[in-house]
Amino acid sequence: MTATAPHDSIRLRDLANQAIAGGPLSSAEALALYRGLDQPSLGLLGHDVRLRLNPPHADGKVRVTYIVDRNLNPTNVCVTDCGFCAFYRSPGDAEAYVLPREVIYQKVEDLIQHGGIQLLLQGGHHPRLKTDWYGQLFQDLKQRYPQVWIHGMSPPEITHLSKLEKRPVRAILQDLKAAGLDSIPGGGAEILVDRVRQVIAPKKATTEEWLEVFRQWAALGGKGTATMMFGHVETDAERIEHMLRIRDLQQETGSVFTAFIPWTFQPENTPMGNAFLTGRGGQKATVAEYLRTLSIARLFLQNVPHIQSSFVTQGIKTCQVGLSMGADDFGSAMLEENVVSAAGCTHPTSIPEIERHIKDAGYLPQRRNMMYQPVETPPTDKFGQPAGKKKIIVSQVQA
Ligand code: SF4
Repeated sequence: MTATAPHDSIRLRDLANQAIAGGPLSSAEALALYRGLDQPSLGLLGHDVRLRLNPPHADGKVRVTYIVDRNLNPTNVCVTDCGFCAFYRSPGDAEAYVLPREVIYQKVEDLIQHGGIQLLLQGGHHPRLKTDWYGQLFQDLKQRYPQVWIHGMSPPEITHLSKLEKRPVRAILQDLKAAGLDSIPGGGAEILVDRVRQVIAPKKATTEEWLEVFRQWAALGGKGTATMMFGHVETDAERIEHMLRIRDLQQETGSVFTAFIPWTFQPENTPMGNAFLTGRGGQKATVAEYLRTLSIARLFLQNVPHIQSSFVTQGIKTCQVGLSMGADDFGSAMLEENVVSAAGCTHPTSIPEIERHIKDAGYLPQRRNMMYQPVETPPTDKFGQPAGKKKIIVSQVQA
């Protein structure tokens, strides 16, 4: 623990015991722990809760899961102009694109060849692509590749379609679900506090709009993930407020979220990246700040079953440390990533490397699907890749 007055130490100890026992922390209590405990102390508590929520199996071994999937960004055209985004291009830009079907099919076939099971399908807010276009894409994909899970359309994309077409969110979701959408990634949450959203992404879905998409999706029986991008203009209290919104919606919907995925803001190449760091003295979030936030998320969000450690923004070694500070999932081994890599952040690795890092941290690697059910690892060649293939992949945070 950090140096504190005796009465503060007693209070922090009581709060720590409360979290370990599964008693929900109030926002003020979580903030007190976040500010009052050092990183190793918070990490120990986070790991304790992680082991209770995701305990060792009958063989006595603790699993760390990961998924093999592929990012597919059907378009980079976007009218929302988020100040932190290095990926998008405005309509008419020389680098703007909408992927042709043949290119999409080739990417999916590549995914399948490498043992991948899921598409993380997200893109820009195109001013002319409507629900019909996405619905047809999902139908075509499901017809050709019925085994591939479509984890796609983050809440702001759904909100964009709803406004573009002047139709309710529920109707958009119903159409996309009928066409083959399996689950929704939690992208675009950033910080679910409107003061922050007004600064970093004023044209994007509001906090309530983001939450409403998941509320409606849950009413249709759907699942998804929750994310948080931090380390920019938000305060510590606003991070906790974000988590509270997630916790409350999880309670309200009866567990719409399978996982919580925090990651840090990457300012390189973004329109307003460095300006967003002004209040932080121009500094990006450190490794310690990332780990402390991950740990407090594990303590505060005990009704969300899984926490993902992200290696694209902090590197694979930090992600490995996160496995002992609250995280139980290593994220996504991706064949392609375009969003955070556009912000200058790449950490090339391979599936054998991911498994090696998990094992070296003292855990048993386990492939999973989006619902966190175990999936079999396909046979591999001497490089650890599906037979006859050797390919370096790039991994990223999975939303
Ligand atoms: S983050 Fe998404 S919504 Fe914002 S500008 Fe980039 S592509 Fe558009």
